[in-house]
Amino acid sequence: MAKKEFKSESKRLLDLMINSIYTNRDIFLREIISNASDAIDKLCFLSLTDQNVGMTRSDFKIEVSADKDSRKLTVSDNGIGMDEADLEDNLGVIASSGSLKFKQEMDKDNNDDIDIIGQFGVGFYSAFMVAKDITVITKKYGCDKAYMWHSTGADGYTIEECDKDTVGTDIIMIMKDNTEEDNYDEYLEQYKLSSLIKKYSDYIRYPIEMEMKRSRRKEDSNDSDKPEYEEYFEKETLNSMIPIWQKPKKDVSDEEYNNFYKEKFMDYTDPLKVISTSVEGVVTYKALMFIPAKTPYNYYTKEYKKGLQLYSSGVLIMENCEDLLPEHFRFVKGVVDSPDVSLNISREMLQQDRVLKQMAKTLEKKIKNELSSMLKKDRETYEKFWSAFGSQLKYGCVSDYGVNKGELEDLLLFYSSKQKKNITLKEYVEAMKENQKYIYYVIGETVEAIDRLPVLELLKENDFDVLYLTQEVDEFCMQSLMKYADKEIKSVLNDDLGLPEDDNKETEDEKKDSEGTINFMKETLGSRVSDVVVSKKLKSYPVVLTAKGGMSFEMEKYFNAVNPDSGMKANRVLEINPNHEAVKAMMSYIDTDMPKAKAYCQILLAQAELMAGVEVENTADYTELVLSLMK
Ligand code: ADP
Repeated sequence: MAKKEFKSESKRLLDLMINSIYTNRDIFLREIISNASDAIDKLCFLSLTDQNVGMTRSDFKIEVSADKDSRKLTVSDNGIGMDEADLEDNLGVIASSGSLKFKQEMDKDNNDDIDIIGQFGVGFYSAFMVAKDITVITKKYGCDKAYMWHSTGADGYTIEECDKDTVGTDIIMIMKDNTEEDNYDEYLEQYKLSSLIKKYSDYIRYPIEMEMKRSRRKEDSNDSDKPEYEEYFEKETLNSMIPIWQKPKKDVSDEEYNNFYKEKFMDYTDPLKVISTSVEGVVTYKALMFIPAKTPYNYYTKEYKKGLQLYSSGVLIMENCEDLLPEHFRFVKGVVDSPDVSLNISREMLQQDRVLKQMAKTLEKKIKNELSSMLKKDRETYEKFWSAFGSQLKYGCVSDYGVNKGELEDLLLFYSSKQKKNITLKEYVEAMKENQKYIYYVIGETVEAIDRLPVLELLKENDFDVLYLTQEVDEFCMQSLMKYADKEIKSVLNDDLGLPEDDNKETEDEKKDSEGTINFMKETLGSRVSDVVVSKKLKSYPVVLTAKGGMSFEMEKYFNAVNPDSGMKANRVLEINPNHEAVKAMMSYIDTDMPKAKAYCQILLAQAELMAGVEVENTADYTELVLSLMK
């Protein structure tokens, strides 16, 4: 029979597996058993609605057996099984979920092969770390033929029809031969196998059975000087079957929680936070939730599925119950198990379900409280959380017309120019100076770039703190918040800053001069600006460009990036400092050299545009102008 080749990326992974670069080989059994358990889940789920399955929950089990003579380790399940196409699809390539991540990480850093295997659950293939030959014999539910998949490693695999009476899958692994450094015999020892199962697969909800060799005193042995013993076999269930979320917190180690998370949610890093909760009352449930330590690679794609796994008394009902999590906490992973949710509930009914709504409400509150307490008690971890998912909370303040902002505002962090670190709005307000009316923020590309903005000059002089914001969502977030603790939030670029009035106010004469300047500039600049005004923000700089009305430059940039034809444009207001030498110089040419005065005026606008980070409208003209003045 012709051998088929593995797809290339699988081949690479297989090579690594076979050459056993990764040292924690023990996990292969966990991977194989968890596949068996998933397969049983599927058939068990089907049996709820399909009478023909003819099995009830208690009929399902996983069997493990080892034979030292033939070096065979077999894991059998009576789950859903696979047909020919499934075998091809599932075992011919790395399972698509794992493979994508694998590829991404590989591309990122080609030298990190070892880590990758250690970190990802690479599933079925991990068996090649310990086995030199693998046969999968399987029969799918509803299919009358059975198939055998066979492979000895990277050179490929075969699939052929075979005999198998019952539905389910046997994975038969022939262990590698021992070498000087490596002992593979141990995976045929019942002690090793049973301890691996207890360690990694204890919570699997179906019995994992193994024939255990025992020894007992022979009944007829006379108990005097030389008692005789005999060996016998006894089937034993090795796992407690209690799902980890049903166990009291004190009985579960951090490592167990972490392992459960990593395996279940296909992450390779320990979670940042484990949230375990048990609620009794109107609705009873247990939930085990996790906040990942890093933003999942597909977090901002459609591929990422928000939701918690929903169980009803230990039976999986829904892989991803979206309605259990609000959008702003979509990074949370976990499971919820409630006896109050009906087994046969449909997706449509779930959305209406009162029990579900109630659970979603209390879960949201729980997550929020956990985050608040992390923020208070463990700032370092919170900062890590913030860098992974902070922008999600900011989006949360914006979406649905800001209905959630009250819930979320105290969880937000912003970079404080004075304290040079992230602070909360509460901390900002507490540190506000007595004569400071507003909360100030500026948006820009980087903290360093913002810090050089001329509009900050007077704020700095007053020693007022300014929040430096660098994310796309920030402008929307601030506009949605509007206020915090009765303090208005003001954009340094767009709003009147309400700074304490300067003692040396403009005299009437100066006002007249300013009016002249303004009129001249308005006339010269025409429709390029919607207004020219005397600035209250400037001291040592001549001009600044600000945006009037709802739309800021950041929003303009955002909308135009999303849709280049949108034609969105913020209303440009040129604020001037009439006392500045450059402005005075411009005015001095009005009577003697009008073209020069106009050129100065255009250049001042271009300067302001550059500073504001918006495009200078006609760069060729601008260059001409500058050159003309240099001649
Ligand atoms: P993953 O479990 O992460 O999807 P694996 O490489 O472990 O990746 O398995 C690939 C696929 O092969 C599984 O998703 C499943 O569809 C199928 N599979 C593996 N083992 C079994 C089994 N015992 N019974 C039925 N299907 C299985």
